[in-house]
Amino acid sequence: MFSEVHFHWGKKTGEGSESLVDGCSYSAEMHAVFWKKEYGSKKEALKYRDGLALVAYFLEVKDENPALQRLLDKIEDVIVPNNPVQISPFMLEKLTPPFRRKYVTYEGSMSIPPCLQVVTWFVRLKPLHISLEQLKQFRLLEYEDGKPITMNFRPTQPLHGRIVSYKD
Ligand SMILES: [Zn+2]
Repeated sequence: MFSEVHFHWGKKTGEGSESLVDGCSYSAEMHAVFWKKEYGSKKEALKYRDGLALVAYFLEVKDENPALQRLLDKIEDVIVPNNPVQISPFMLEKLTPPFRRKYVTYEGSMSIPPCLQVVTWFVRLKPLHISLEQLKQFRLLEYEDGKPITMNFRPTQPLHGRIVSYKD
């Protein structure tokens, strides 16, 4: 079941993604989070190793991403935490295009505390686009203390013997 889409970004172009490809990072990363339906709720799913699936998309600074703009049009109304806004419904596929090839998958953890080891990751290797203007809009968002959110990505973690598989 779909839970949410969220984003990680950095202070400057070329940093911000949580995953690295051959040691290189992208300027932002989008995560679509899903929980396993048979567990009944996301809260319950968090108790199981296969509770969540997280689909990661890199965002590379290039052309404007029209699907992303639907969210960014409302970003000025968010700015501070816990400020809900309404966005007219749209097909999730527009934002998170499906893929069957060229991705890596591994069993890992959530990248935010409590970092539970309950996530099956799917990282699409081909990046989506984001314009520099769009990226800058993310950097306008603020923490509760009014400081701008300019770095909300977790540094890469040791492998801990995990098996990372590549699907060509
Ligand atoms: Zn994330």
